Amino acid sequence: MRKGLINMSLFHELEEMGHERVLICSNPEVGLKAIIAVHSTTLGPGLGGVRMWPYNSFDEAMRDVLRLSKGMTYKAAAAGLNLGGGKAVIIGDPKKDKSEALFRSFGQYVQSLGGLYITAEDVGIDVEDCETVRIETPWVTGVSEALGGSGDPSPVTALGVLQGMKAAAMRKWSSSLKGKTIAIQGLGSVGMWLAKYLVDEGAAAIYGCDLDEEAIEEASSEHGVKIVDPDDIYDVDCDVFAPCALGAILNDDTIPRLQCEVVAGASNNQLDEDRHGEELAERGILYAPDFVINSGGLINVYNELTGEYNRERALLMTRTIYIKMMRVFELADHHDISTADAADKVAEERLREIRALGTRQWGSMIERHQHHNH
Ligand code: NAD
Repeated sequence: MRKGLINMSLFHELEEMGHERVLICSNPEVGLKAIIAVHSTTLGPGLGGVRMWPYNSFDEAMRDVLRLSKGMTYKAAAAGLNLGGGKAVIIGDPKKDKSEALFRSFGQYVQSLGGLYITAEDVGIDVEDCETVRIETPWVTGVSEALGGSGDPSPVTALGVLQGMKAAAMRKWSSSLKGKTIAIQGLGSVGMWLAKYLVDEGAAAIYGCDLDEEAIEEASSEHGVKIVDPDDIYDVDCDVFAPCALGAILNDDTIPRLQCEVVAGASNNQLDEDRHGEELAERGILYAPDFVINSGGLINVYNELTGEYNRERALLMTRTIYIKMMRVFELADHHDISTADAADKVAEERLREIRALGTRQWGSMIERHQHHNH
């Protein structure tokens, strides 16, 4: 093995981050190069989507899967779900490198983990790909409604974002979102639903941006969104800034530009670095932590695993994001820490307490799911 490919620092990283298992999947016959990372199964099987991306190096892919799987542990823990954290990455170009054999081979690797990891859609992966994976393993969620799945999670995620935004409005201004001005970055699946819900809430004005012409056209004609240039979205004079496109957009360059009092949106990993959570607080901006506010999609697929999928139940559970967000805000005030740190604390406390119980009560969920899908 060449020097530097897998060196001791990887073990150091795994130890620091606390991963339970990492599976490197290589099937040259079908061109599969993938990594599955199970961060924690303390609360349940490690659930998280599979991302297909043309990573430049093995290290880059490894770093991404380790970080994303840990994020899933925190998201599930804070949402009160009996799920652990896992994630997978397939190294390849989703436009060129997809094939039936590739996804079935990936499915066989998922199957080899016997339910410790449950996969779903993520960047570069669609429902059809998930259905191909499902030929080889039952450990797949987010399949189409026709196959008994929960379908597109975006409207549920957007509903959760709305709940978190309402909690932030109540905390900041003791009011609803009526009459407020919101700037949405990214009018994709979640951002578009959010715009619709905000119109229903009586928002005074909604600004938005996207790179996609069709999305811009739909948002402005259907929901009255005032379109701005993507580069100008940070400077919009608004009450709430809602990131619904990319990660790491709250950084040294953008935070000084923000004109809002609340940041509440769907994107994963919004803070470029942990310290940016404190910097938002110093500027008097209330930040609704990303993995708490965007957990509606995870709540939705969780309902697929715990019995016959029921949309009403998934929506009811998603509405509790309001209360969870309030708790995070209160905890931050109480300990004089940033809201991002408070969200970590909520997740870590639950993990610590359940780990201390030393039991694994989630086996029945696995059995039921296996039975249901076979
Ligand atoms: P999407 O791909 O449907 O939408 C993203 C939109 O952002 C696209 O329309 C894209 O053109 C636009 N965009 C990309 N770069 C941009 C830029 N620089 N400026 C403005 N717009 C830009 O994705 P989505 O499903 O709506 O998810 C949005 C975010 O929410 C992602 O970060 C995703 O990880 C996160 N998220 C989504 C869900 C879900 O249920 N879909 C759940 C949890 C978290």
